[in-house]
Amino acid sequence: MTKFTDITLPEPILRAAKDLNYEIPTPIQAEVIPWLLDNDRDLIALAQTGTGKTAAFGFPVLSQTDVTLNQVQSIILCPTRELCIQISKDLQSYAKYMPLIKITAIYGGAPIFRQKEALKAGVQIVVGTPGRVADMIRQDALHLNKVARLVLDEADEMLNMGFKDELFEIMSHIPEARQTLLFSATMPKEVVNLANTFMHEPHRISAGNENEGVANILHFFYKVQARDKYLALKRIADMNPRIYGIVFCRTRTETQEIADKLQHDGYNADALHGDLSQGQRELVMTRFRNKYVRLLIATDVAARGLDVDDLTHIINYQIPADPDVYIHRSGRTGRAGKNGISLSIVHTKELGALKAVEKRLGHPIVLTKVPGGREICEKQLFHFIDNVERTEVDHDQIDSFLPNVYKKLSWMTREELIQRFVSIEFNRFLQYYKDMKDLEQSPEPAPKKDKRSFSFSTFRLSIGHVNGLTKRELMRFINQLKVSRSIEIGQIDIMNEYSLIDLDSEYEDQLLKAFSRNKYKGIPVAAELSKPLKKGKAGFARNPNPGKPDGADRYSDRKGKKSFDRPVSPKEKRGFKGKPRRES
Ligand code: AMP
Repeated sequence: MTKFTDITLPEPILRAAKDLNYEIPTPIQAEVIPWLLDNDRDLIALAQTGTGKTAAFGFPVLSQTDVTLNQVQSIILCPTRELCIQISKDLQSYAKYMPLIKITAIYGGAPIFRQKEALKAGVQIVVGTPGRVADMIRQDALHLNKVARLVLDEADEMLNMGFKDELFEIMSHIPEARQTLLFSATMPKEVVNLANTFMHEPHRISAGNENEGVANILHFFYKVQARDKYLALKRIADMNPRIYGIVFCRTRTETQEIADKLQHDGYNADALHGDLSQGQRELVMTRFRNKYVRLLIATDVAARGLDVDDLTHIINYQIPADPDVYIHRSGRTGRAGKNGISLSIVHTKELGALKAVEKRLGHPIVLTKVPGGREICEKQLFHFIDNVERTEVDHDQIDSFLPNVYKKLSWMTREELIQRFVSIEFNRFLQYYKDMKDLEQSPEPAPKKDKRSFSFSTFRLSIGHVNGLTKRELMRFINQLKVSRSIEIGQIDIMNEYSLIDLDSEYEDQLLKAFSRNKYKGIPVAAELSKPLKKGKAGFARNPNPGKPDGADRYSDRKGKKSFDRPVSPKEKRGFKGKPRRES
């Protein structure tokens, strides 16, 4: 096996690598570093995030820098501010014993004048995001006429994020005789076009198997009804008490909604998406890195800059349409020799996309059962007991209190004591899953007053994000209409300029009247009922069967305790004669 010491790298870099505990090059490093030290041709390297590609280009870039020249000799472009900061920090740490090397990061969302000052002072290596780099060139603050090496890191993502024009503009300022290194996790045709336009007979390296990151990852999927996805997610979290993972969602709105729901339900979860300010994003990422947040709900783009090595799970809340995106997502777990799990919560309409992923992956994704309530309770209980067993007793601190505690509890037997002590921690789960079990197990659930079967109608309201509307605000607004105290609220989708909300169809007419009479923050609200979409026609109806339960999570707030449950369909009821019904 090659070691770094077997590669003819400058001694200061080897020393820095040793400090970082880099002893054996990762597969991409083992291929790219020696090749770059001997060749000045262009290179395309297929590598996932987290495979060690920063050092793969970083070591050669550093070793080929002429420290006597105070001019930009290498420029590294990457898609996000976080990645930009990360790469520049990594390069600084590799250059720890190279005091004459000057590296600077230039990215948007930070004062431009400081970055200009840094450039003015003279740097040899620039790491930048395309928008800010192009800006600096236009302002004559950055000169690239001496650049010998251009690195495009996460090229696919830069194009995905719409940086094509900036990339073309920047490249037109770099001498043609440069060496271009393109690193990408995937090779969609946009990246191929970019390579064809700007690179000359590139050499190709793929880090061993392109799916390297997937080798020690187990892939499972759960088949559930669309309306049960959130429920399944909660069960996954409950079944894995030490979970530390990213839940990938498609849209910013959905990302925020799921994070809100999870937080509300008591999970250490948070959202990461493009609608957050830079400060908010940094806070979320720090909390996630520190593992205070155990589940990060994120869009693909927002999660790009996040470099975390020890994720236990990747959860696909939907199967992405592009199989490469799935591969990239799952490559975020199972790193550094650890095992990882990639889970997908899939409903029938997504099975086609799942097949495409399996094909791309080259092996099947295993269908598995959403954990049942009893199973989860057992798991949580043993997790708790494990913790008790592992807890070290600090005798110095507590011994003086114990005699009184023993005295106070002396009337209880050992069993009674354990029962109470377990209940303190565990009642939340038992309570929640006890309710779930009732919902599933009763063959013909007696219609309780507050658990009747509901029909929802979807209302389209003329207020949305632009009016500052949030889900919570909308629920408050519905309550203020005073149509009925027991009105049931189903799925809510807040769009930019309008919103869709499922409300108990029993009150359809009263609600329409109430909407026309009431204003939201002084704004008149136009409300109409959603109609089923005709094939091929645009419209806003999202429930193909208005008037019937559409599977929306019911979001109810009774006695101050929020819960999610759903109407039981007659089919489900039938499927549950005597024996436990599978949930999915
Ligand atoms: P990267 O893909 O460059 O972001 O690297 C992913 C992670 O792997 C980072 O935490 C690096 O510090 C670490 N890393 C990179 N190369 C090596 C190596 N040869 N040995 C050990 N860790 C490494």
